Amino acid sequence: MSPEQLQNQKFKLESSLHELRSRLVISRGGELDRVQAAYDHYNRSDSSHAQLITDKDLDFQLSEIEIEKLNQVELALLRIQSNTYGLCLTCHKLIALERLIAMPEARLCISCESIEHQP
Ligand SMILES: [Zn+2]
Repeated sequence: MSPEQLQNQKFKLESSLHELRSRLVISRGGELDRVQAAYDHYNRSDSSHAQLITDKDLDFQLSEIEIEKLNQVELALLRIQSNTYGLCLTCHKLIALERLIAMPEARLCISCESIEHQP
């Protein structure tokens, strides 16, 4: 992977991290007073967004899948820092670039992933 490609992967991971984290913060605040937390959030960032809140938008609870994804994204960023990004955690071979582009947080190559998911 070229430095530019790595930089691009890092950028994608950081954007997902930012998005997932901001939803998590609202979700946690929302346990106390969800509406107020959402209102405060939008007010702080851009007051014009406050009017755009609908009932659906207020459902900020992260699903387990999203929490798992957040963990995977954080781990992928750590692997970039330690120069092990793109290596399969099981067989230590390079993960295919197309796979990383489609899923920047991938931690296993396709063959190890399919073995792990076998019943
Ligand atoms: Zn592997």
